[in-house]
Amino acid sequence: MWQAQVFTLYPDIFPGPLSKGLYGKAMSKNIWNLRVVNIRDAAEDKHKTVDDTPYGGGSGMLMKADVLAKSLDQNKNEGEKILYLSPRGKKFDQNYAKVLSKEKSVSIICGHFEGVDERVLSTRNIEEVSIGDFILSGGESAAFVVIDSILRLLPGVLGNENSTVNESFENGLLEYPQFTKPQIWEEKAVPEVLLSGDHSKIKHWRLSQSEAITRVRRPDLWEKYKKN
Ligand code: SAH
Repeated sequence: MWQAQVFTLYPDIFPGPLSKGLYGKAMSKNIWNLRVVNIRDAAEDKHKTVDDTPYGGGSGMLMKADVLAKSLDQNKNEGEKILYLSPRGKKFDQNYAKVLSKEKSVSIICGHFEGVDERVLSTRNIEEVSIGDFILSGGESAAFVVIDSILRLLPGVLGNENSTVNESFENGLLEYPQFTKPQIWEEKAVPEVLLSGDHSKIKHWRLSQSEAITRVRRPDLWEKYKKN
């Protein structure tokens, strides 16, 4: 069983979209599990304070090192990777999702305010992970993104084991265009080749479409693809 432990100030928004459809089914089959830890439970004063002002001045508040560290120490599993969702982190991508899908469990910290006290990050050996070059108000939506992308890689989660094989990024290219019934819709017909039943021709057409789309939309991926 693969497990995510999420550390958050807003535990009630989980599991949210992760409990729906195939992911909900996979959870009831014990393919994966979500543990939600309320960071605030580790606060010790009567107001349950989790944040304080930054040394050196500046706007906003920071999550306190003592509270977050206590929460982690009480809940993390031996040898588990701990991620902190942060715009400063290593960019999350399909390969990163694959690496994390091979772990037994992963702890994920959702930040808030201006971030967290730097000392927790270094003393608890935390990996910073970014989902892109933009700023969110909190790490929760990023945690959904990260966990969602991992779950679909776990064996038994998607109906068809092959369905991840042809997807965007799997071969370094973006996905080819796809069509379903009706064959003619608003006077537009489905490309002839897809109706031919000739699998090698279809494969060839899809590859050339993937290449054309990638070249135009993602020159960065295209350059890498050409080199391999
Ligand atoms: N002051 C910080 C931003 C804090 S945003 C900075 O300039 O780097 C508040 C919280 O939202 C962060 O602690 C983080 O957990 C989350 N967050 C914001 N943007 C993110 C991103 N691009 N990827 C992952 N997490 C993000």
